[in-house]
Amino acid sequence: VTRRNHAPYTDGLPVPEGPLEVHDLAVEFNKLLDSLNRQLERDHQFVSDASHELRTPLAAIRGHIELLQRHSLDHPEIVPTSLATISDESRKMQALIESLLQLSRMDQAELELSPFNLTELAATVAQRYQEQLHQNLVMTGDGNPIMAIGNPDSVEQILLALLANAGKYSPADSTITVNVRVSAGHAKVSVLDQGSGISDADKEKIFARFYRVDESRSKKIPGTGLGLAIVTRLAGLNNGTVTVRDNQPQGSIFTLSLELDQQPETTA
Ligand code: ADP
Repeated sequence: VTRRNHAPYTDGLPVPEGPLEVHDLAVEFNKLLDSLNRQLERDHQFVSDASHELRTPLAAIRGHIELLQRHSLDHPEIVPTSLATISDESRKMQALIESLLQLSRMDQAELELSPFNLTELAATVAQRYQEQLHQNLVMTGDGNPIMAIGNPDSVEQILLALLANAGKYSPADSTITVNVRVSAGHAKVSVLDQGSGISDADKEKIFARFYRVDESRSKKIPGTGLGLAIVTRLAGLNNGTVTVRDNQPQGSIFTLSLELDQQPETTA
């Protein structure tokens, strides 16, 4: 609501600027109510989705505890498998809770942004992450320093998440490429993979909280469906964006776009 300098509307006092302003205020108030209602609906949906996602591993844990309580003595052979399931499922719950906490902390977060060398940061992250990947990792770009504006720690977190996804959703021994460049007046870093790719319909959905492409769920590739939601929020806190498009002949390209510290000499 825009602030206006006038006396408060008090009983007995004349309304300073006539009925038009009251109407304006009512319109603004309704807009505010609408937006609060939408926020409440989103929060409600979030809590309900989060509970659903937590309930699934919890049900598995409880099921196996009951199984052990009833049968561990007469069927000791079930013990190792049940314990392994309990351990896996509780790890899933922990990952989910940590991601949820991170998302909720980011609601109030503000990041300190400063100029940093994106080329150097991407190379360092790629080099460090290489040994956790079963794919070949290559860096492309002319290698010149590109000064972007952002928060280096959170940009690192974004890159790690995109690399982790490229690793999860593309075959071993394929190639993952990290490309840093200046394009259209922005500093950009892309992670290209040769994996399954993402259908156009799913491209719009994968950034939403808890959304996972059916194939990822059914293949039981570990994940919470929160990674890209966190990436999107982090990119926003850096005044940046994350987008996805198809790689050729197959796979996906995720691109983080940040503000440039100085005007580029060339634009593409
Ligand atoms: P998670 O990986 O934990 O499921 P994300 O939010 O990071 O959650 O990703 C959401 C979904 O988007 C994934 O479940 C997967 O279906 C799809 N996805 C993400 N990155 C890729 C990729 N590089 N290639 C193919 N699919 C991907």
